Amino acid sequence: VTERADLLIAPRWLIPIEPAGAVLEDHAVAVRAGQIVAVGPRAELNRSHEPREVLVLGEHALIPGMVNAHTHAAMALLRGYADDMPLMQWLSERIWPAEAKHVCADFVRDGTLLACAEMLRGGVTCFNDMYFHPEAAAEAALQVGMRAALGIIVIEFPTGYAADPDDYLAKSLAARDSLRHEPLISFCMAPHAPYTVSDRSFERVLTLAEQLDLPIHIHIHETRSEIEESLVRYGCRPLQRLTGLGIVGPRLIAVHGVYLEPDEIASLATHGATIAHCPTSNMKLASGAAPIAPALAAGVRIALGTDGCASNNRLDLFWEMRHAALLAKVVTGDPTALGPHDLLRMATLGGAQALGLERRIGSIQAGKRADLCAVRLVEADYAPCYDPAAHLVHVAGREAVSHVWVDGIARVREHALLQVRNKDLLAVAQLWQNRLIA
Ligand SMILES: [Zn+2]
Repeated sequence: VTERADLLIAPRWLIPIEPAGAVLEDHAVAVRAGQIVAVGPRAELNRSHEPREVLVLGEHALIPGMVNAHTHAAMALLRGYADDMPLMQWLSERIWPAEAKHVCADFVRDGTLLACAEMLRGGVTCFNDMYFHPEAAAEAALQVGMRAALGIIVIEFPTGYAADPDDYLAKSLAARDSLRHEPLISFCMAPHAPYTVSDRSFERVLTLAEQLDLPIHIHIHETRSEIEESLVRYGCRPLQRLTGLGIVGPRLIAVHGVYLEPDEIASLATHGATIAHCPTSNMKLASGAAPIAPALAAGVRIALGTDGCASNNRLDLFWEMRHAALLAKVVTGDPTALGPHDLLRMATLGGAQALGLERRIGSIQAGKRADLCAVRLVEADYAPCYDPAAHLVHVAGREAVSHVWVDGIARVREHALLQVRNKDLLAVAQLWQNRLIA
């Protein structure tokens, strides 16, 4: 009996993430109507499936599309706009004033398009976004065919987007409602940070998260001063305050978590929360080094994020995997900390689980949607290759990504983005650069 398939992909190496640590050779993946319908030995799939197209990728590793668990995509327009400053000064003197002057739906649509193009070409098929005008971000993501989890942002002070917490919620919830039939778009509650959100707003966020069954995406314990200020203002550390408000649970995507005591790590593990680790942003802003190796050992789920382009300055999960590995080895003094399969899992399934999307994406398994990334590993610069998983972390960069599919549809082929022209992206970037320096 042969079953029909739209596409059969036969890579040199298949790294499915589930089962953990597997690197399969002579295997193939069959895709039909956007879904992975079979994963198995190539000879077997050749017998059992009749595909319309066969793609042999004899020099490539095939991995799940990567999930960027924390970003502010539209800030691609602020790439390199304010470098080499500490977080609070960087925010209050450079980023917030620029945003107050320029951020509007057009800024978000154009910036997110630039970000999506960069991420897709680098093998990222889904991103968790925290920014304003989510309907404009959705438009950009859908233009390039990318999966997005958009933030229902809450922040206590007014911006060009909204006047007060109720206004932020009303606008973002309306956007969610208008996009409820888009299979590539989902939402997260996104209270900005403990120091910018009141107890009353956190209570509303929790109620809505439970009613709508959404994750809660928040910056937390990013800097030492954030914790010191909380001790003065609330008499407790931010995580303790959030625990008291009921925010700490399986829905929580705790972004950064740079300063975590052992009992806080244990609490995150017990509650089934996720840390969205952003090592490049933490290093660049000199925030510190998150205790990811101990958190992983304690059973905390870890995902990887780039953060926004203003603090990174690229949306590149290959960088994040490598930086996470190197940083963990340095801070623990243990060269075995964070192996390649740990990092590949954080960059894929960890993010999918954080977003509640693990039944749809995050690993290469029959029944999941076909979000896939092929990485070509045969350049002389990469040779020899004894262990393709280690190569993806320590050798290859995103320039080696050759093919990307989202929901079974090719979005990158032979390194080229199919939905948008490079010259159009450059024109958009130039337009906003002119405005920002005016
Ligand atoms: Zn951030």
